Order: sequence, then C-alpha cells, then structure tokens
Amino acid sequence: KTNQINLTFSSIPENVGITRLLIASVGAQLDLPLNDIEELKVAVSEAVSNAIIHGYQNNPHHIVYLDLDISNNTLKIIVTDEGCGIPNIEQAMQPAYSTDPERMGLGFVFMQSFMDELQVESTLEVGTTVTMIK
Ligand code: ATP
Ligand code: MG
Repeated sequence: KTNQINLTFSSIPENVGITRLLIASVGAQLDLPLNDIEELKVAVSEAVSNAIIHGYQNNPHHIVYLDLDISNNTLKIIVTDEGCGIPNIEQAMQPAYSTDPERMGLGFVFMQSFMDELQVESTLEVGTTVTMIK
C-alpha cells in the first residue's frame, strides 16, 4: 500500500491542530495502535510548532510544508520551513536546549524518542527540513 499526502499551510498556530488530525487519520488507516498514533501526533506537532515559532519567529505570513509518504508499511514525515535556519543542529537537539528561556527544549527529544529515525537538515536564512520515519 502506498500513499502520498502533501500539505501546504500558513504559519499560524491554529494549523498545528489540523496537522495532528491529519496524522491521526493516517495512523488509523495504517491500523497503528492508539499509543503510536498519540506519539505521531506529538512528533508532528512538535516539528510543525518549531517551524512556526522558531523558523518563522511567529510571523503568520509564511508557509509550512508537511509531506507524508507511505510505502511498504513505512511512514515518512517531512516538515519543511523556509525560515531562519538552525545555527548548530547538534546543540539544538540536546535535551532541554532552547533559545527561548520560556520553553522546555524538549521538542526534538520527543521527536527522537517517538520516531524510529529523525533527521534534521538546516541552512541559515534558507530553512529547515525535519524528516521522521516510523
Ligand atoms: P519546546 O519544543 O519544548 O517548546 P523548543 O522548541 O525550544 O522547546 P526544541 O523543539 O527541542 O525545543 O528545539 C530546540 C531549539 O532548536 C529551539 O529552541 C530553536 O532554537 C531551534 N529550532 C528548532 N526548530 C527550528 C526551526 N524549524 N527553525 C529554526 N530553529 C529551530
Ligand atoms: Mg519545539
């Protein structure tokens, strides 16, 4: 069974919930257990929130891309922004590291622990792509 879904949406926080619904629905179609679906929702919403909050610094006039690719029981999730980029990816992925003192710095930790693979590519002033595989 293969399936591809490509979603393009404005960088507004309301759209995080829409991506959660979408991934939950895809997870249900794949007959994933409820617990896995909950984890997918967290991983996707953390990546999408990062794109909006950090990549686009909460500017609502930008576009976030969510690409889902399903083939031979593998779910690939790609979240892309064309925002500010991450200066030091290794540092950004450290538990409890955040550039915002109000935040926990746990987004990447959740993505890492809930997905089988996590890959982050980023270029300053070009943007960031987060690829997750389950
Ligand atoms: P939390 O996710 O717990 O609310 P956080 O977003 O700061 O806090 P992470 O999601 O782990 O924590 O991200 C760590 C840091 O990486 C962020 O503080 C930010 O500096 C940087 N970062 C993450 N995603 C992006 C992105 N798409 N564009 C630019 N910087 C990013
Ligand atoms: Mg985060």
